[in-house]
Amino acid sequence: MLDSPTIADAEFDALLRRLIELEQAHPELQSPDSPSQRVGGQVSSTFRAHRHLEPMLSLGNAFTPGEVAAWYERVAGLLGRRPPVMAEPKIDGLAISLTYDHGSFVTGATRGNGVEGEDVTPNLRTLHELPLRLRTDPPDLVEIRGEVYMPIAGFEQLNERRAADGQPLFANPRNSAAGSLRQLDPSVTKGRPLRLFTYALGALEGQSRPPTQSALLDQLRTWGQPVNDLIRAFPEITGLEAFLEEMLDRREHLPYEIDGVVIKVDDLAAQMELGFVGREPRWAIAFKFAPMQATTRLREIRVNIGRTGSLNPYAVLEPVRVGGVTVSQATLHNEQDIHRKDIRPGDRVIVHRAGDVIPQVVKPIVEDRTGDEQPFSLPDHCPSCGTLIVRREDEAMAYCPNPNCPARRYEQINHFVSQAGMDIRGLGSRLAAALLDRGLIHDVADLYRLTAGDLMQLPNIKEKSAENLLRAIDRSKERPFRSVVNALGIRFVGDQNAELLVAAFPDIERLRHATVADLRTVHGVGDRMAESVAEWFAEPRNQALIDRLIAAGLTMSTVGETPVDGPLAGTTFLLTGRLDDLSRGEAERQLLQLGARIAPGMSRAVDYLVVGADPGSKLKRAQELGTAVRDEAWLRRVLETRRLDEPATG
Ligand SMILES: [Zn+2]
Repeated sequence: MLDSPTIADAEFDALLRRLIELEQAHPELQSPDSPSQRVGGQVSSTFRAHRHLEPMLSLGNAFTPGEVAAWYERVAGLLGRRPPVMAEPKIDGLAISLTYDHGSFVTGATRGNGVEGEDVTPNLRTLHELPLRLRTDPPDLVEIRGEVYMPIAGFEQLNERRAADGQPLFANPRNSAAGSLRQLDPSVTKGRPLRLFTYALGALEGQSRPPTQSALLDQLRTWGQPVNDLIRAFPEITGLEAFLEEMLDRREHLPYEIDGVVIKVDDLAAQMELGFVGREPRWAIAFKFAPMQATTRLREIRVNIGRTGSLNPYAVLEPVRVGGVTVSQATLHNEQDIHRKDIRPGDRVIVHRAGDVIPQVVKPIVEDRTGDEQPFSLPDHCPSCGTLIVRREDEAMAYCPNPNCPARRYEQINHFVSQAGMDIRGLGSRLAAALLDRGLIHDVADLYRLTAGDLMQLPNIKEKSAENLLRAIDRSKERPFRSVVNALGIRFVGDQNAELLVAAFPDIERLRHATVADLRTVHGVGDRMAESVAEWFAEPRNQALIDRLIAAGLTMSTVGETPVDGPLAGTTFLLTGRLDDLSRGEAERQLLQLGARIAPGMSRAVDYLVVGADPGSKLKRAQELGTAVRDEAWLRRVLETRRLDEPATG
């Protein structure tokens, strides 16, 4: 049966409930790798200490490729030969040790001091990537070492959600990974996008140790453990320096943060021969990248008016090198955050940069204060238009309420034409300001009425560049609906949240009439975002703007959006219900990237209905139509393998 689901979610839930009941009645039957153990639910008041069977290593550091080369020459001298090495990106997360007893995952602990860590087993069990059983040929006992981390996208999405909920933000992916793993309630950990890479063994009983680090990584893969695919083998040090450079370049673009490269002598016999100095192995070294954090002085706090009218304080810093880039400004989020962290103008502060994100001020160094530093407060009046600033009790933000505020209009245009929005190339912020100043445009819809004559009134705009600009404006009409929704600049609706919205409301008619209650049914849409979206569309001026954008010919629906060429081209998906592992928006974005179409609703055009928890009427309709119904595990496999891997029979 090619088209039948393996198991419906409702059925799975019922089975799981039955299993939990059984296990509660007969605790002696509960096995540590039972599916019920993924669900969490136990709340502990403190973490138990866990003594590692074999201590977790600490590595010597090298800060230049020259120091790595010197280490290699030392090793070669001691061995009397030039050994092959393995180079592994050093993931900036939390080191952990996983103990498997006869193949069953029994304990997971943090590194701690290397000898003793914290037992975070229930939390680690919620990681989908962590196999609860080793797949093949398990030893009697093994400690597997790895790193739990949070991908940058997951970190940003988490912070976007926390900002919308008025919760304090995480400073960087590493902190959010550590904070998420060390939760007293495992169900909180389960909701966090934590990932895992494994790369080493501690204690091992009942099986011989793989003879090389490469064989060890293969063994981990065979057991079903996630292993980083950027790891490279080198027959000797030649080529390693180029690899270090490559990793430094790629660092900014990887989906997770790395803070260096670990180099290990590949051969186990050679490792034993080289031995340790204290707890540091002679056979390995960590090449550390320039840190993404630095200390500098906060010269002053300035305020910028955002497109929604929000007052956005930012830090003007004494320029400082952070992760190889000079930083002179950093975001400060909002006034509450400044007060919570007690950041004051004149402070020495720690600045952090994460990937391509705007640098952030993490915290002040209070010990360095002279005593003259005064707490910061926002101005009472808008620095652009002088209107009295409004503060909402329930929100961390302060606003300029004037919809005609020049600063707001300017930011709205800039946001609208930005890459994540309508992507109108050539319409930079200076040009936007000039258009507004001369009254050639008043809002974003006016962009679509501009003529060559209008543009040529501006200094430095000749016929050719006017034509190019008009063409770019025209092309923006083909931007997908998701980008249009993002470009509107609704508070709390960034790129990620726009995806969630268009997945649930695939055309503008549905979206513009959605009530707060409608919006709240969408997984991932919190109360604040639901209210903000409904409020935005309730504004008659915004409804009129939408009418003008429709008339201008912008894409106002996901239907018929040109599919990308890709392995899933020609297939149409529909997702319903709540997914565990990734948001529906994110899943749909990945499917679109692979060339699939996302249907606006259930119809015969749908090839696959992917069903999450609590599916609605779509499942019933799919069953009537005989549409293929699939579960989240299947979807995950499709996204991972990038193809529809159908069994020949089933
Ligand atoms: Zn203003």
